[in-house]
Amino acid sequence: MGWRDALPAVRGRLAFDEPLAPFTWLRVGGPADVLFLPADEDDLADLLGGLDPGVPVTPLGVGSNTLVRDGGVEGVVVRLGRPFAHVETQGVRVTAGAAALDAQVAKVASKAGIGGLEFLTGIPGTIGGAVSMNAGCYGSEIKDVLVSAHGLVRQGRAVSFNDPHSLGYRHGWGWEEGVIVTHAVFEGRPDEAAAVEARMAAISERRETTQPIREKTGGSTFKNPPGHSSWKLVDEADWRGKPFGGAMFSPLHSNFLINGGDASAADIEGLGEAVRADVLGKFGIELHWEIKRLGRALS
Ligand SMILES: Cc1cc2nc3c(=O)[nH]c(=O)nc-3n(C[C@H](O)[C@H](O)[C@H](O)COP(=O)(O)OP(=O)(O)OC[C@H]3O[C@@H](n4cnc5c(N)ncnc54)[C@H](O)[C@@H]3O)c2cc1C
Repeated sequence: MGWRDALPAVRGRLAFDEPLAPFTWLRVGGPADVLFLPADEDDLADLLGGLDPGVPVTPLGVGSNTLVRDGGVEGVVVRLGRPFAHVETQGVRVTAGAAALDAQVAKVASKAGIGGLEFLTGIPGTIGGAVSMNAGCYGSEIKDVLVSAHGLVRQGRAVSFNDPHSLGYRHGWGWEEGVIVTHAVFEGRPDEAAAVEARMAAISERRETTQPIREKTGGSTFKNPPGHSSWKLVDEADWRGKPFGGAMFSPLHSNFLINGGDASAADIEGLGEAVRADVLGKFGIELHWEIKRLGRALS
Protein backbone atom coordinates (compact mmCIF):
# COMPACT_ATOMS: atom_id res chain seq x y z
CA MET A 1 0.00 0.00 0.00
CA GLY A 2 1.44 3.39 -0.96
CA TRP A 3 0.97 6.80 0.65
CA ARG A 4 -1.78 7.68 -1.80
CA ASP A 5 -3.90 4.83 -0.40
CA ALA A 6 -3.56 6.22 3.12
CA LEU A 7 -4.55 9.84 2.66
CA PRO A 8 -6.46 11.40 5.56
CA ALA A 9 -10.18 12.09 5.14
CA VAL A 10 -10.72 15.63 3.87
CA ARG A 11 -13.66 17.78 2.77
CA GLY A 12 -11.90 19.40 -0.18
CA ARG A 13 -11.09 17.91 -3.57
CA LEU A 14 -8.32 15.34 -4.05
CA ALA A 15 -7.32 14.37 -7.58
CA PHE A 16 -4.77 11.71 -8.54
CA ASP A 17 -2.34 12.24 -11.44
CA GLU A 18 -3.93 15.58 -12.24
CA PRO A 19 -2.24 17.44 -15.13
CA LEU A 20 -0.75 20.72 -13.89
CA ALA A 21 -0.15 22.43 -17.25
CA PRO A 22 -3.63 24.05 -17.24
CA PHE A 23 -2.83 25.53 -13.80
CA THR A 24 0.21 27.47 -15.04
CA TRP A 25 0.74 30.39 -17.40
CA LEU A 26 3.39 28.53 -19.41
CA ARG A 27 0.91 25.69 -20.00
CA VAL A 28 3.52 22.92 -19.85
CA GLY A 29 4.48 20.10 -17.52
CA GLY A 30 3.26 16.79 -16.19
CA PRO A 31 0.77 15.80 -13.48
CA ALA A 32 0.81 16.13 -9.70
CA ASP A 33 0.87 12.76 -7.94
CA VAL A 34 -2.00 14.27 -5.96
CA LEU A 35 -3.62 17.68 -6.35
CA PHE A 36 -5.49 18.97 -3.28
CA LEU A 37 -7.95 21.85 -3.22
CA PRO A 38 -8.78 22.33 0.46
CA ALA A 39 -12.26 23.35 1.62
CA ASP A 40 -10.80 25.73 4.21
CA GLU A 41 -7.81 26.21 6.50
CA ASP A 42 -8.86 23.44 8.94
CA ASP A 43 -9.20 21.04 6.03
CA LEU A 44 -5.69 21.92 4.87
CA ALA A 45 -4.36 21.43 8.40
CA ASP A 46 -6.05 18.00 8.56
CA LEU A 47 -4.45 16.90 5.30
CA LEU A 48 -1.01 18.14 6.34
CA GLY A 49 -1.25 16.63 9.82
CA GLY A 50 -2.46 13.23 8.59
CA LEU A 51 -0.20 12.89 5.55
CA ASP A 52 2.87 10.61 5.64
CA PRO A 53 5.59 13.06 6.84
CA GLY A 54 7.93 11.89 4.07
CA VAL A 55 5.63 13.09 1.29
CA PRO A 56 6.57 16.46 -0.18
CA VAL A 57 3.90 19.16 -0.30
CA THR A 58 4.11 22.04 -2.81
CA PRO A 59 1.80 25.07 -2.86
CA LEU A 60 0.82 26.49 -6.24
CA GLY A 61 -0.88 29.82 -6.89
CA VAL A 62 -1.98 30.61 -10.44
CA GLY A 63 1.39 29.48 -11.79
CA SER A 64 2.45 32.84 -13.21
CA ASN A 65 6.04 32.34 -12.07
CA THR A 66 6.29 28.57 -12.24
CA LEU A 67 7.60 26.00 -14.71
CA VAL A 68 6.31 22.49 -14.03
CA ARG A 69 8.69 19.92 -15.51
CA ASP A 70 7.42 17.29 -17.96
CA GLY A 71 7.59 14.40 -15.47
CA GLY A 72 5.18 16.13 -13.07
CA VAL A 73 5.44 16.92 -9.37
CA GLU A 74 6.06 14.38 -6.65
CA GLY A 75 3.79 14.30 -3.62
CA VAL A 76 0.86 16.63 -2.97
CA VAL A 77 0.40 19.92 -4.80
CA VAL A 78 -1.88 22.26 -2.84
CA ARG A 79 -3.93 24.78 -4.77
CA LEU A 80 -5.90 27.21 -2.68
CA GLY A 81 -9.17 28.20 -4.32
CA ARG A 82 -12.21 30.32 -3.59
CA PRO A 83 -12.32 29.64 0.19
CA PHE A 84 -8.97 31.45 0.39
CA ALA A 85 -9.82 34.31 -1.98
CA HIS A 86 -11.46 36.76 0.46
CA VAL A 87 -10.38 40.43 0.62
CA GLU A 88 -11.52 42.77 3.41
CA THR A 89 -10.53 46.28 4.42
CA GLN A 90 -10.47 47.99 7.79
CA GLY A 91 -9.17 51.54 7.92
CA VAL A 92 -5.99 51.52 5.82
CA ARG A 93 -5.46 47.80 6.33
CA VAL A 94 -6.34 45.07 3.86
CA THR A 95 -6.62 41.40 4.80
CA ALA A 96 -6.45 39.05 1.84
CA GLY A 97 -6.60 35.29 1.46
CA ALA A 98 -3.66 33.62 -0.25
CA ALA A 99 -5.76 32.75 -3.32
CA ALA A 100 -6.93 36.33 -3.84
CA LEU A 101 -5.52 37.75 -7.07
CA ASP A 102 -3.11 40.63 -6.54
CA ALA A 103 -5.10 42.76 -9.00
CA GLN A 104 -8.29 42.14 -7.01
CA VAL A 105 -6.57 43.26 -3.80
CA ALA A 106 -5.41 46.45 -5.52
CA LYS A 107 -8.96 47.06 -6.75
CA VAL A 108 -10.60 46.55 -3.35
CA ALA A 109 -7.99 48.80 -1.72
CA SER A 110 -8.53 51.56 -4.28
CA LYS A 111 -12.30 51.47 -3.82
CA ALA A 112 -11.79 51.84 -0.06
CA GLY A 113 -9.57 54.90 -0.59
CA ILE A 114 -6.36 53.07 0.33
CA GLY A 115 -3.24 54.05 -1.61
CA GLY A 116 0.12 52.31 -1.84
CA LEU A 117 -1.08 48.88 -2.99
CA GLU A 118 -1.71 49.83 -6.62
CA PHE A 119 1.52 48.18 -7.83
CA LEU A 120 -0.28 44.86 -7.21
CA THR A 121 -2.41 45.56 -10.24
CA GLY A 122 0.60 44.82 -12.45
CA ILE A 123 1.37 41.39 -10.99
CA PRO A 124 -0.79 38.57 -12.38
CA GLY A 125 -0.42 36.18 -9.43
CA THR A 126 -2.03 35.43 -6.08
CA ILE A 127 -1.27 36.88 -2.66
CA GLY A 128 0.29 33.53 -1.63
CA GLY A 129 2.69 33.70 -4.57
CA ALA A 130 3.37 37.40 -4.01
CA VAL A 131 4.22 36.98 -0.32
CA SER A 132 6.31 33.92 -1.08
CA MET A 133 8.28 35.75 -3.82
CA ASN A 134 8.23 39.27 -2.31
CA ALA A 135 6.74 40.29 -5.65
CA GLY A 136 7.00 43.87 -6.80
CA CYS A 137 7.17 46.31 -9.67
CA TYR A 138 7.86 49.95 -10.46
CA GLY A 139 9.69 50.62 -7.21
CA SER A 140 7.27 48.95 -4.77
CA GLU A 141 7.30 45.45 -3.37
CA ILE A 142 5.33 43.33 -0.92
CA LYS A 143 7.71 44.04 1.97
CA ASP A 144 6.78 47.76 1.77
CA VAL A 145 3.12 47.11 2.54
CA LEU A 146 3.10 43.80 4.43
CA VAL A 147 2.10 43.88 8.11
CA SER A 148 1.91 40.14 8.73
CA ALA A 149 1.53 36.86 6.88
CA HIS A 150 -0.02 33.66 8.17
CA GLY A 151 0.17 30.07 7.11
CA LEU A 152 0.61 26.41 7.98
CA VAL A 153 3.85 24.47 8.22
CA ARG A 154 4.21 21.02 6.65
CA GLN A 155 2.92 19.30 9.80
CA GLY A 156 -0.23 21.45 9.78
CA ARG A 157 0.60 23.86 12.62
CA ALA A 158 -0.36 27.53 12.20
CA VAL A 159 2.49 30.07 12.07
CA SER A 160 2.72 33.83 11.58
CA PHE A 161 5.34 36.18 10.25
CA ASN A 162 5.61 39.86 11.10
CA ASP A 163 9.09 40.95 10.10
CA PRO A 164 8.62 42.21 6.53
CA HIS A 165 11.83 44.27 6.68
CA SER A 166 13.81 41.02 6.66
CA LEU A 167 12.49 40.19 3.18
CA GLY A 168 14.70 40.80 0.16
CA TYR A 169 14.69 41.03 -3.62
CA ARG A 170 12.36 38.25 -4.81
CA HIS A 171 12.80 36.50 -1.48
CA GLY A 172 9.65 36.52 0.58
CA TRP A 173 8.17 34.31 3.26
CA GLY A 174 6.47 31.04 2.44
CA TRP A 175 7.43 28.11 0.30
CA GLU A 176 11.17 28.27 0.96
CA GLU A 177 10.44 28.31 4.72
CA GLY A 178 8.22 25.25 4.32
CA VAL A 179 5.06 27.29 4.90
CA ILE A 180 1.84 27.41 2.92
CA VAL A 181 0.65 31.00 3.20
CA THR A 182 -3.09 31.16 3.90
CA HIS A 183 -3.63 34.92 4.30
CA ALA A 184 -1.81 38.20 4.80
CA VAL A 185 -2.44 41.68 6.17
CA PHE A 186 -1.25 44.79 4.33
CA GLU A 187 -1.23 48.46 5.20
CA GLY A 188 -1.57 51.36 2.78
CA ARG A 189 -2.29 55.04 3.39
CA PRO A 190 -5.42 57.17 3.00
CA ASP A 191 -5.84 58.41 -0.56
CA GLU A 192 -8.52 59.52 -3.03
CA ALA A 193 -10.04 56.50 -4.75
CA ALA A 194 -9.96 58.31 -8.11
CA ALA A 195 -6.24 59.10 -7.79
CA VAL A 196 -5.42 55.49 -6.88
CA GLU A 197 -7.49 54.21 -9.80
CA ALA A 198 -5.69 56.57 -12.18
CA ARG A 199 -2.32 55.23 -11.06
CA MET A 200 -3.59 51.65 -11.49
CA ALA A 201 -4.74 52.44 -15.02
CA ALA A 202 -1.31 53.87 -15.83
CA ILE A 203 0.35 50.68 -14.58
CA SER A 204 -1.98 48.49 -16.66
CA GLU A 205 -1.28 50.56 -19.77
CA ARG A 206 2.47 50.38 -19.25
CA ARG A 207 2.23 46.57 -18.89
CA GLU A 208 0.28 46.21 -22.13
CA THR A 209 3.01 47.89 -24.15
CA THR A 210 6.12 46.47 -22.48
CA GLN A 211 5.31 42.86 -21.55
CA PRO A 212 3.90 39.88 -23.48
CA ILE A 213 0.96 39.61 -21.08
CA ARG A 214 -1.24 37.68 -23.53
CA GLU A 215 1.38 35.00 -24.20
CA LYS A 216 2.10 31.75 -22.38
CA THR A 217 4.90 33.10 -20.23
CA GLY A 218 6.33 32.84 -16.73
CA GLY A 219 7.10 36.51 -16.07
CA SER A 220 10.71 37.48 -15.45
CA THR A 221 12.87 34.45 -16.13
CA PHE A 222 16.02 35.55 -14.33
CA LYS A 223 16.57 37.77 -11.31
CA ASN A 224 18.58 40.90 -12.05
CA PRO A 225 22.21 40.30 -11.03
CA PRO A 226 23.55 43.13 -8.83
CA GLY A 227 24.28 46.14 -11.07
CA HIS A 228 22.81 44.54 -14.22
CA SER A 229 19.46 44.03 -15.94
CA SER A 230 18.79 40.48 -17.04
CA TRP A 231 16.87 41.61 -20.11
CA LYS A 232 19.89 43.56 -21.33
CA LEU A 233 22.22 40.60 -20.83
CA VAL A 234 19.84 38.26 -22.72
CA ASP A 235 19.59 40.88 -25.46
CA GLU A 236 23.31 41.52 -25.72
CA ALA A 237 23.93 37.76 -25.92
CA ASP A 238 21.54 37.86 -28.91
CA TRP A 239 18.78 35.56 -27.64
CA ARG A 240 15.78 37.90 -28.07
CA GLY A 241 13.21 36.24 -30.34
CA LYS A 242 15.45 33.28 -31.25
CA PRO A 243 13.42 30.01 -31.44
CA PHE A 244 14.65 27.05 -29.37
CA GLY A 245 12.36 24.03 -29.68
CA GLY A 246 8.93 25.57 -29.24
CA ALA A 247 10.21 28.28 -26.90
CA MET A 248 11.90 31.69 -27.20
CA PHE A 249 12.69 34.83 -25.25
CA SER A 250 9.96 37.30 -26.10
CA PRO A 251 10.65 39.81 -28.88
CA LEU A 252 8.77 42.35 -26.69
CA HIS A 253 10.65 41.75 -23.43
CA SER A 254 13.86 39.76 -23.56
CA ASN A 255 13.68 38.49 -19.96
CA PHE A 256 10.30 36.83 -20.58
CA LEU A 257 10.41 33.24 -21.83
CA ILE A 258 7.42 32.28 -23.94
CA ASN A 259 5.90 29.02 -25.04
CA GLY A 260 5.15 29.52 -28.71
CA GLY A 261 2.43 26.86 -28.56
CA ASP A 262 4.02 23.43 -28.63
CA ALA A 263 7.03 23.81 -26.32
CA SER A 264 7.75 21.19 -23.68
CA ALA A 265 8.98 22.14 -20.22
CA ALA A 266 12.34 20.67 -21.30
CA ASP A 267 12.48 23.09 -24.28
CA ILE A 268 11.77 26.05 -22.00
CA GLU A 269 14.21 25.04 -19.27
CA GLY A 270 16.80 24.02 -21.89
CA LEU A 271 16.60 27.47 -23.49
CA GLY A 272 16.98 29.14 -20.10
CA GLU A 273 20.04 27.02 -19.31
CA ALA A 274 21.57 27.68 -22.75
CA VAL A 275 21.21 31.42 -22.17
CA ARG A 276 22.68 31.19 -18.67
CA ALA A 277 25.74 29.37 -20.05
CA ASP A 278 26.10 31.83 -22.93
CA VAL A 279 25.83 34.93 -20.71
CA LEU A 280 28.35 33.44 -18.27
CA GLY A 281 30.74 32.65 -21.12
CA LYS A 282 30.38 36.02 -22.86
CA PHE A 283 30.17 38.41 -19.90
CA GLY A 284 31.28 36.40 -16.86
CA ILE A 285 27.91 37.09 -15.15
CA GLU A 286 25.83 34.31 -13.60
CA LEU A 287 22.08 34.54 -14.11
CA HIS A 288 19.83 32.97 -11.48
CA TRP A 289 16.35 31.69 -12.25
CA GLU A 290 13.48 33.79 -10.89
CA ILE A 291 10.95 31.33 -12.34
CA LYS A 292 10.39 28.48 -9.90
CA ARG A 293 11.02 25.13 -11.57
CA LEU A 294 9.05 22.31 -9.98
CA GLY A 295 9.07 18.56 -10.31
CA ARG A 296 11.01 15.99 -12.27
CA ALA A 297 12.22 15.81 -15.84
CA LEU A 298 11.02 12.94 -18.05
CA SER A 299 13.66 10.24 -18.03
C1 LIG B 1 3.00 38.64 -17.58
C2 LIG B 1 3.66 38.50 -16.22
C3 LIG B 1 4.13 39.64 -15.58
C4 LIG B 1 4.73 39.53 -14.32
N1 LIG B 1 5.21 40.66 -13.71
C5 LIG B 1 5.75 40.57 -12.48
C6 LIG B 1 6.22 41.75 -11.79
O1 LIG B 1 6.17 42.84 -12.29
N2 LIG B 1 6.74 41.59 -10.55
C7 LIG B 1 6.85 40.37 -9.96
O2 LIG B 1 7.31 40.29 -8.82
N3 LIG B 1 6.42 39.26 -10.57
C8 LIG B 1 5.88 39.33 -11.82
N4 LIG B 1 5.46 38.19 -12.45
C9 LIG B 1 5.67 36.89 -11.80
C10 LIG B 1 4.51 36.41 -10.94
O3 LIG B 1 3.28 36.98 -11.34
C11 LIG B 1 4.75 36.69 -9.46
O4 LIG B 1 5.94 36.08 -9.01
C12 LIG B 1 3.58 36.20 -8.60
O5 LIG B 1 3.77 36.67 -7.29
C13 LIG B 1 3.45 34.69 -8.58
O6 LIG B 1 2.19 34.37 -8.01
P1 LIG B 1 1.47 33.01 -8.37
O7 LIG B 1 0.23 32.93 -7.59
O8 LIG B 1 1.31 32.89 -9.84
O9 LIG B 1 2.54 31.98 -7.85
P2 LIG B 1 3.03 30.62 -8.50
O10 LIG B 1 3.73 30.89 -9.79
O11 LIG B 1 1.91 29.66 -8.53
O12 LIG B 1 4.09 30.19 -7.42
C14 LIG B 1 5.29 30.94 -7.28
C15 LIG B 1 6.02 30.44 -6.03
O13 LIG B 1 5.25 30.79 -4.90
C16 LIG B 1 4.92 29.62 -4.16
N5 LIG B 1 3.56 29.79 -3.63
C17 LIG B 1 2.43 30.00 -4.33
N6 LIG B 1 1.38 30.09 -3.49
C18 LIG B 1 1.87 29.93 -2.25
C19 LIG B 1 1.31 29.90 -0.95
N7 LIG B 1 0.00 30.05 -0.74
N8 LIG B 1 2.13 29.70 0.11
C20 LIG B 1 3.46 29.54 -0.06
N9 LIG B 1 4.05 29.55 -1.25
C21 LIG B 1 3.27 29.74 -2.34
C22 LIG B 1 5.02 28.47 -5.14
O14 LIG B 1 5.30 27.25 -4.48
C23 LIG B 1 6.17 28.93 -6.00
O15 LIG B 1 7.40 28.62 -5.39
C24 LIG B 1 4.87 38.27 -13.71
C25 LIG B 1 4.36 37.13 -14.36
C26 LIG B 1 3.77 37.23 -15.60
C27 LIG B 1 3.24 35.99 -16.27
